[in-house]
Amino acid sequence: MADLPFHDRGDFEDADRGFLAKLSPAVIKTVDGRVVWDNDSYDFLQEDCPGTAHPSLWRHGRLCAKQGLYEVTEGVYQVRGLDLSNMTLAEGDHGVVVIDPLISTECAAAALKLYRAHRGDRPVTGVVYTHAHADHYGGVRGVTSGGVPILAPAGFMRHAVTENVYAGPAMTRRAAYMYGPALPRSPEGQIGAGQGLTASTGTMSLIPPTVEIARTGQEETIDGVRMIFQLTPGAEAPAEMNFLLPGRRALCLAENATHNQHNVLPLRGAATRDARAWARYLGEALSMFAGLADVAFASHHWPTWGAERIERFLSQQRDMYAYLHDQTLRLLNKGLTAAEIAETVRMPPELEQVWHTHGYSGSVSHNVKAIYQRYLGWFDGNPAHLWEHPPRESAIRYVECMGGGAAVVAYARRYIDENDLRFAAQLLNHAVFADEGNKEARDLLAEVYTRLGHGAENATWRNFYLMGALELSDGIAPALMETASADFFHALTVEQIFDSIAIRVDGPRAWHERLNIDWHLIDLGERHRTTLSNGVLIQQFDPPGESAELTLRLTKAQLVGLLSGKGVEGIEREGDTTVLQRLVAVLDRPVPDFAIVTA
Ligand SMILES: [Zn+2]
Repeated sequence: MADLPFHDRGDFEDADRGFLAKLSPAVIKTVDGRVVWDNDSYDFLQEDCPGTAHPSLWRHGRLCAKQGLYEVTEGVYQVRGLDLSNMTLAEGDHGVVVIDPLISTECAAAALKLYRAHRGDRPVTGVVYTHAHADHYGGVRGVTSGGVPILAPAGFMRHAVTENVYAGPAMTRRAAYMYGPALPRSPEGQIGAGQGLTASTGTMSLIPPTVEIARTGQEETIDGVRMIFQLTPGAEAPAEMNFLLPGRRALCLAENATHNQHNVLPLRGAATRDARAWARYLGEALSMFAGLADVAFASHHWPTWGAERIERFLSQQRDMYAYLHDQTLRLLNKGLTAAEIAETVRMPPELEQVWHTHGYSGSVSHNVKAIYQRYLGWFDGNPAHLWEHPPRESAIRYVECMGGGAAVVAYARRYIDENDLRFAAQLLNHAVFADEGNKEARDLLAEVYTRLGHGAENATWRNFYLMGALELSDGIAPALMETASADFFHALTVEQIFDSIAIRVDGPRAWHERLNIDWHLIDLGERHRTTLSNGVLIQQFDPPGESAELTLRLTKAQLVGLLSGKGVEGIEREGDTTVLQRLVAVLDRPVPDFAIVTA
């Protein structure tokens, strides 16, 4: 910790530069008074770093807590600190183009209002979604109801929906650990989430884009605002893009280069990102745009000014992802496993000496494991790990071998005394999984998780540890985060809707069931057939031959209604109507509050 470059105050200068106005109080509510954002609850971050937080993370939290309207350069403004992400506003001939309208409509509306209070009542003449993550589009209905050009990278809609729908319930549950909304905001509790302070909890929306950015070099002009795009699919998101505003000499880096080491794989879970491609795109951004921009900004954190500083920032970010990638491959080709590589790789000293390579959301440890996973998967090649007992069954046997729960707790205390909290956590986790009623083990594990959390530089690690401690003490915390909105379900394609049903089929319950249904989507003019056999629901577009046992004629909205539990009233049916009931009878429901730190 002594090596941290605290003398470098450049980030504080950049984070304050161009400040125009705060939102005061910085509390945003729904129309019925529910608080969806409260930046003021982080005021404690202005105090000195306490013993319950890593100084590097505390510093980063303090930077993220800065909020208000900022001028980035003439005609380009940002509202920061009013959600997890930033909203950028690029002024045009008649109005303003909104880049990334935050997560919640309430926050986006408040951000736009703050901007207008200082820059006049300019109409929103266009929207840009830099990528397909909800913190970059969810608030769109807070700034427009549509009817203006909405630009997004190719594949946006597919990825906006699929990245969160199929594994959505599990990701949502794990996201509650990653962001820690149930944790108190305090020096002992939640102090940030890496890319910002936390996610807002208001109304999410989605208006489909109208202009697709399909290639690097593509140019578009909206309301006189010219943009030159660089596509970066597979880096931070499966559909993402950087772009230059040549008229303003400003470079938007989306979420590809922010002031921290990002996630190659976020702890909530996702498809693994490609660190190699990520580094290549940052190199390409350098060659395309360096020298053409006097300021680089992103949809998280604060901008970087000056051509030379932008070039250094981008090349260091590029080198960081390239280093992680290449060293992981070098070491796995020598036979090291993911956990061993994670223990071995250290950032080069020159990179470690700059703040923006530090992992507040990603970390060297879990990014290296993600790169290993991308190339080699979960199996490390050791047959001992090929067919292990699952966690509870293993735990019961370990505890038995060690002489019972009380003995495991005694061993754990020994490792705690030696400050090996990592192994103490492993031992105590066995004790709790073997016997959830072992209160001494639970309490001690909660204590160990708390200490690990307080020592973590990475905000998402801290939140995971502290959520683990909280749930060991108080039981499972109720979900506070919303993921799917009505817009979101309507944005699903028919294929995705049937996919969503297929992944709810309880296989064994459906083993002996056989049925088929034809779905005539009257508003789309499409016919789909779903067939259940061998415990799987297969879908077929435009099926040939005879009609199915049951034919339903309905609109897509009615199909979405069926999915969200509405009945079949108003839907024209032909054939055996019990078929639909038989299908519904084999559908399972996800568990939104499954156990994580207990078996
Ligand atoms: Zn984001």
